[in-house]
Amino acid sequence: MRYAYAKHDQEAARIDRKEGGRIDDTAAQLAYIVSAEKPGRRLRFTLKSHTGRHLTYQVQTMGGPVSVGQGRRRYVSVLTGSDNESAYTYLGTIFSWYRLNGSTEWSSWEYFHGKKSTIGADAVSAKSFLWLWNLLLSGKGLGTLAEFWHEGVCGRCGRALTDPESIAAGIGPICRKKGAS
Ligand SMILES: [Zn+2]
Repeated sequence: MRYAYAKHDQEAARIDRKEGGRIDDTAAQLAYIVSAEKPGRRLRFTLKSHTGRHLTYQVQTMGGPVSVGQGRRRYVSVLTGSDNESAYTYLGTIFSWYRLNGSTEWSSWEYFHGKKSTIGADAVSAKSFLWLWNLLLSGKGLGTLAEFWHEGVCGRCGRALTDPESIAAGIGPICRKKGAS
């Protein structure tokens, strides 16, 4: 599935990541996912379902040369361990294409589950990302089915926050305990 990606969506993606928080707007959610333009840049978000379950994803922009008419690929991975800064497993790849009429803005995006992924396409984390992606590209949005939280930073130690409660509080669980004692 493809999506016409306009400049105004990039504007919507200018979110202060240091603040952390919930994004409700469908276009802004998609814009956030693909907003990292610099090679090596990573961003993370957490999908919290209405049942309370959550999954954290990381999107990393790849380096290296790019073909004419193509943009940089983004590797999508999912948090599979306890360290929310490093314990991610590759899921699939987002491809992007330029409009070929001389415009330099991204015109379309497409996601494929990775053949090299050690996670099956029918796993919950893989299906959930595809579900999110299709809802965002179709413009239907998440509605009340799930919440989209972009990562925050702990106000005390500077570590990444990916749990919605911690993001909302602006402080991680370890630092919260230290503060209480
Ligand atoms: Zn902390």
